[in-house]
Amino acid sequence: MDTQAAQLRSSRAGASGLGATGGVLPFLALLAVGAALPLFVGGYWGLIATRACIYWVLVSGLNLVVGFAGQIAIGWVALLALGAYTASVLTAGTAVPELSPYLALVIAAAVGAVFGLIVGLPALRLRTFYFAITTLGFATIVNQVALAWQSVTGGGVGVAGPIFPDPFSSKWGFYYFCFGLAAICTWMTANIAASRFGRALTAIRDAEVAAEACGIAKPALLTAVFLFSGAVAGIAGALFASLQSYITPDAFPLDLSILFFIAVLIGGRGSILGPLLGTILLTALPEFAAPLVAWSTFLYAVLLLVIVLAIPGGIAEILDFKNRRPLESHRAIVPQPDLLPGLIGTPTDGGALTLEQVALSFGGVQAIDGLDLEIRPGQVHGLIGPNGSGKTTTLNVISGYYLQQRGAVRLNGTVLRALARNRRAHMRIARTFQTPRIVGSASVLQNVMIGGTIDGKGTFVESLLSLPRHHRDEVMLHDTATLALAAVGLERLGGVRADRLQHSELRFIEIARALMLRPAYLLLDEPAAGLSAEEIKRLGALLVAIAQAGTGVLVVEHHPDLIFDICHHVTVLNLGKKLAAGTPTEIRSHPEVVNAYLGG
Ligand code: ADP
Ligand code: MG
Repeated sequence: MDTQAAQLRSSRAGASGLGATGGVLPFLALLAVGAALPLFVGGYWGLIATRACIYWVLVSGLNLVVGFAGQIAIGWVALLALGAYTASVLTAGTAVPELSPYLALVIAAAVGAVFGLIVGLPALRLRTFYFAITTLGFATIVNQVALAWQSVTGGGVGVAGPIFPDPFSSKWGFYYFCFGLAAICTWMTANIAASRFGRALTAIRDAEVAAEACGIAKPALLTAVFLFSGAVAGIAGALFASLQSYITPDAFPLDLSILFFIAVLIGGRGSILGPLLGTILLTALPEFAAPLVAWSTFLYAVLLLVIVLAIPGGIAEILDFKNRRPLESHRAIVPQPDLLPGLIGTPTDGGALTLEQVALSFGGVQAIDGLDLEIRPGQVHGLIGPNGSGKTTTLNVISGYYLQQRGAVRLNGTVLRALARNRRAHMRIARTFQTPRIVGSASVLQNVMIGGTIDGKGTFVESLLSLPRHHRDEVMLHDTATLALAAVGLERLGGVRADRLQHSELRFIEIARALMLRPAYLLLDEPAAGLSAEEIKRLGALLVAIAQAGTGVLVVEHHPDLIFDICHHVTVLNLGKKLAAGTPTEIRSHPEVVNAYLGG
């Protein structure tokens, strides 16, 4: 590794979970206030604070589902009810022999996890609105079952909640129990937020296609998140039942579900601190406006509208002081191609990536029609042609997004079959998009780190508990991403929120993200669109350097100069068919190409 790269690697940020989500200080302040609360306030406020802690235990998990993964789960009160009934029934001794409340708490967590997964799984197939409706339906079912299954739940009469023994039996004792669990939940979810899993969730939320291209497996990730979210909701239910001391189906109205959901939204998506403050705010609000309790649903709705319209980023956006500093207005992107060998490493002796007679039509439109193509390691292959000639479709077939109807895609002679869309990244096939797909609310560096998600070794649980492998992954991803950003010339913008950048900079971020895969093949869809002449030149040099490092580059472009300057081989498409193929010199003088496309 050369010294420049080594220097970049040594500048690493603190990898603490809480630190990465908006500074540790606000959390420490909340911890101090929470711990000293009995010194300031009386028993009544202790009760409200206990309730806020319990709600947060649930919302912390829901936050990963709604705020990070972007799934509209509005019926989460069902899991609170399930946890509450499980713990109550197990400790009441009505249906089964009496269990210890702690054991009941653990079982409530397990039941919550299982049902969290059951409610969550439809999210893999259903989009936004439909998923929201299934969660609501589930909440109704749970409520009806609780009402009807009298022998176990006591029906409308209800059942007594669990009582935790000393030292948690007193009001303040129970408060500390809930406060401790809330603090642990905060810590765990902040760890996830600052891990490759948290970043992958935001990628699924804001740029699903890019997440797949980076190799992120949505089903596995969402499964982990729903299990966790369900488990903490189950725990919250058990605590809630204990706080209520007696529960009936009425204790779990849909209003409560809306409260949880809105707490995440007003907190801000992709934040831990925001939803935590949102939960405290929404729990305490009715106390300040006691005469308005009857209007609480109305108030929540108004609050939600105001937030969505005025500050879509929620509390987290208000607190994001760092991103209010103006950026330099004249920012040149100066790539450092000499860093590439250190980033991409020594190329493996993979053979070519080939397309043989590939055809794909959409309804009546023959997007590509019997296309042959060969991309060799270490070379730049240009793909040009008028709009609608099938260039992007070709990229989509190679990257596994679409399955061709005829023909074959081969890597080193092996046929690439229909695979999950995220599998091509494991073959080190990386890509960028015609319209940049990035996570606008994440920092530039985090966006680039998303590209290396599949190279982490630690599991979801290891990240949740901040174990050593999680730290090693984070340091590795942080260092590699810093290097990738320096290679494309954007290292100074690493800490900036990505949606503040210019279009041309987003194109280079996408390249940096793709480089995180140490790609054997890199597919670029119109990378020069929207770039200045100077930037196009630098882009050209960067692509040549990437190829020299051993990567096979396929570049779709409209700028003939760029293509003819950097490509070893050019294929011209027209109406999905190959019009011509050859070296740049051959293509430049090809009569049909000149007539149909270059307009010379
Ligand atoms: P290019 O990138 O060369 O401009 P595309 O590959 O995007 O062209 O599109 C080729 C043709 O296939 C166009 O006629 C386009 O309308 C059509 N097409 C591409 N994707 C789809 C799709 N998902 N559904 C229907 N038609 C599509
Ligand atoms: Mg296109």
